[in-house]
Amino acid sequence: MESLYFSPMLLSINLMLGSAVACSGLWYFSRPYRGPGIWMAGTWTLLIGVLLFVGYMGTGNKLLNISGNALQLAGEALLMVGVFRFLGLPAPWWIVPASAGAMSAVMCWHWYVAAINTELVVTIYSLIGGLLPVQACRALWTASAEAELKSVRRFVALTFAAFALVTLVRGVLGLIDGLQGIEHVDVTQSVAYLLPYNFGVPLWVTGLVGLTLLTMRRILADSQRNAQQAAANAERFERLMSVSNAGVMVLDGERIIDSNPKLEQLFAQTREQLLGQPLSRLFDSSSQQPLSDLLQQADGRPHDLLAQRADGQPFAAELSIARLAEAQQQVAEIRDVSQRKALEEQLRQLATTDPLTNALNRRAFQQRAEHELQRSQRQGTPLCLAMLDLDHFKRVNDQYGHAVGDQVLVAFSELCRQQARSTDLFARMGGEEFVILLPDSDLNAAQQRLERLRSDLHTHPIDTVQGPLNISVSIGLASSRPHETLEQLLQRADTQVYNAKAQGRNRIAPEQ
Ligand code: GH3
Ligand code: MG
Ligand code: MG
Repeated sequence: MESLYFSPMLLSINLMLGSAVACSGLWYFSRPYRGPGIWMAGTWTLLIGVLLFVGYMGTGNKLLNISGNALQLAGEALLMVGVFRFLGLPAPWWIVPASAGAMSAVMCWHWYVAAINTELVVTIYSLIGGLLPVQACRALWTASAEAELKSVRRFVALTFAAFALVTLVRGVLGLIDGLQGIEHVDVTQSVAYLLPYNFGVPLWVTGLVGLTLLTMRRILADSQRNAQQAAANAERFERLMSVSNAGVMVLDGERIIDSNPKLEQLFAQTREQLLGQPLSRLFDSSSQQPLSDLLQQADGRPHDLLAQRADGQPFAAELSIARLAEAQQQVAEIRDVSQRKALEEQLRQLATTDPLTNALNRRAFQQRAEHELQRSQRQGTPLCLAMLDLDHFKRVNDQYGHAVGDQVLVAFSELCRQQARSTDLFARMGGEEFVILLPDSDLNAAQQRLERLRSDLHTHPIDTVQGPLNISVSIGLASSRPHETLEQLLQRADTQVYNAKAQGRNRIAPEQ
């Protein structure tokens, strides 16, 4: 034991213990990088191997000797495998059992079959133990990916090369002694033994420091790359925001925390005014409920809302909100769609109204009347339909011209609209034929209202370019029956018009 205290071996064991602990720290603090975990396993395996060997020296136990030698080489092999893993190369795992197995076989032969000169045993050990770091050295030297790691990779490669050199020199010295039949009993007398303790172990430790630097360098390079990437992304986002044709804002909860120039333009507010405001302040009071629903859903789909400029002027807007990766944060895109809305309204007008009189056209009337009829049938409320046909209108055209005829149609429509309730439907069915649908009116009430219309028309001549004209109208009136279709109701009203004409025109012909 005393010889152990004063031998370089104890220092080496302590250095190996220190490097195993340091490697464990390296593994822990560099997770999830691949490689350091295997180095940690390698350094502990090697240390256990050394301790078993020390145990053999104390006890002479052959099994301790065999397993000690095998584990030391297994530890070195693991270190090499870790380097391959770190470099992203296929890991030669087989080398671990192969190295340990070969050494075990040699030692078993030595102990159980025929004793081999111990210096030659050292040679075999050193050959395997020297070739392992050569593999790691080659992989580190030739690796081409990650150019920023090249110098530190070469630094580690050189320490491994030096370690391999020391180990192989020790093997050569062992071979020379072995061939001369020399066997060293007192290891302090043998350069072959002192080489690894005085040079090999310090180089081993230097190599591990190199591996630590290599790992740290990779972490640094990765974080620099990530930082550059993040800066490029931020720049791209800024550009996107500035060129976007829509108002874009980032929201934290409901508050605006970022905005683009287009948003300032849309709302006639500066960026400073916009930031910090709740989104709801950009919208009309009628849009508040849909807006809070939209913020909840944040599904990225566009919705039409009424936005409001700082001066209170409203405009039709399309808003879409989508969640960002960060919790609570959302991105909202807003477009001024007032022109589109106006166009849509214009198209809707064109599609549903008669251009001359502005009354509903036949198709739009049928759709809405169908709806009203169903409602009245469902609720059991009365409903009347009046068909109105101007009397002798052909004569107006013939006598005064088509333009005057048109003027009469416009004036008559105006009169009908004036007298209609907001719930009534007034439509031009074609030529000089019009209909009025009167919901919630029974035949009596409808007749009274239409009578006023008829007499007003009759008693107030229509002003035309050709002077005032006396016009009259014949009205067929029908009140709806249960389960009747709109077509049937129209048909009955039409028949009543015919009756009104037959009875002398300028009158109402009602039918229950
Ligand atoms: P009745 O009292 O029997 O209804 O006689 P009427 O002359 O009013 O009936 P008729 O159906 O014979 O004539 C309708 C006329 O309406 C024929 C057509 O020239 C005219 N007309 C149809 N559409 C228009 C229009 O858009 N503008 C003008 N100015 N006239 C129209
Ligand atoms: Mg007619
Ligand atoms: Mg007519």
